[in-house]
Amino acid sequence: MFALLDSPQQLRQWLAERGEPAYRSAQVERWVYRRRAGGFAGMSDLPAALRAGLAETFHLFTSRVAQRRASADGTEKLLLSLGDGQSLECVLLRDEKRHCTACVSTQVGCAMGCAFCASGLGGVVRNLTTGEILEQVLHLQRLLDPAERISHVVVMGMGEPLANLPRLLPALNEMSGRSGLGVSARRITVSTVGLPEGIRRLARSGRQYHLAVSLHAPDDALRSRLVPANRRIGIKAILAATDEYFQVTGRRVTFEYVLLAGVNDGQAAARRLAGLLAGRTTVVNLIPYNPVEGLPFAAPSESAVGRFVEILLREGLNVRIRRRKGERIDAACGQLRRSAERNLSPAAGL
Ligand code: SAH
Repeated sequence: MFALLDSPQQLRQWLAERGEPAYRSAQVERWVYRRRAGGFAGMSDLPAALRAGLAETFHLFTSRVAQRRASADGTEKLLLSLGDGQSLECVLLRDEKRHCTACVSTQVGCAMGCAFCASGLGGVVRNLTTGEILEQVLHLQRLLDPAERISHVVVMGMGEPLANLPRLLPALNEMSGRSGLGVSARRITVSTVGLPEGIRRLARSGRQYHLAVSLHAPDDALRSRLVPANRRIGIKAILAATDEYFQVTGRRVTFEYVLLAGVNDGQAAARRLAGLLAGRTTVVNLIPYNPVEGLPFAAPSESAVGRFVEILLREGLNVRIRRRKGERIDAACGQLRRSAERNLSPAAGL
């Protein structure tokens, strides 16, 4: 059996070998990406024998929904169970502009070891395949009302996306291609800890993906404490790569900054951050910390956030504050998988 979404070429080749007309692969793709099919059996404009053959040869989904949680603000989170028994999570976020954003993972666990993040606590288990990355968006899409559609994708779930680029790039291609999901590349955000080589490769992908870099500190001393991967990279090399990203793609880069009370949320840090980014066309995305049980960090006070924002604005930077969504359902960053593992809760199924 093959995973259908791992390689579109395989489907085309299989159809060609059976002497099927060339338009069949587009038909199947339309069912998968646009008509939100859950299996081959319901693909009603395909001959029954073909549907049976497809079902014998391909898995449309290699993952299954093991848990689903919804919160009152429209956020829904899925825990997916993968073919090898590993699990991962993905999230659907809705906003008042009727945008539906899919937040997807790229690895089981994460190797970056950020001090405040739940995903890296157990290290990295493995990379996800291209199909497993795509399946997340399709599972989330199946939660939507018929009138809703996935308008944005953020690669901000578990894992470091640029550490899994060979599998991520074909998945992004399918998401943004016209025969695939049809989400414009500009509405797909790749969030990275800041791997310069990966940033350059993404810049040369030929598509205008939105790049977000998790900076979290205005200097290397503090950043290396919070983001251990920084020790062998350094902020200077990251900024050189993001400057290049902007030059090549024309897309301004976002810098994410998780505000941790008493650690990086002071006025001196804000001024240093402003100094670091001065003169660049960027946006700073401030993220109030979402506390993780067992980790020694706390969310910033409203007044600390206010002062931080004020300083950045005064220095002429573009600033956004990320609203917190889905807290009650452990929607942040590796938390659902962790709580599922901790409770050893059997998959609830749907
Ligand atoms: N590895 C990628 C994607 C990770 S998650 C990266 O580092 O960007 C996306 C964002 O959520 C990152 O900025 C990450 O630092 C942040 N994050 C992780 N844990 C968090 C938490 N508990 N509260 C708020 N933001 C968190």
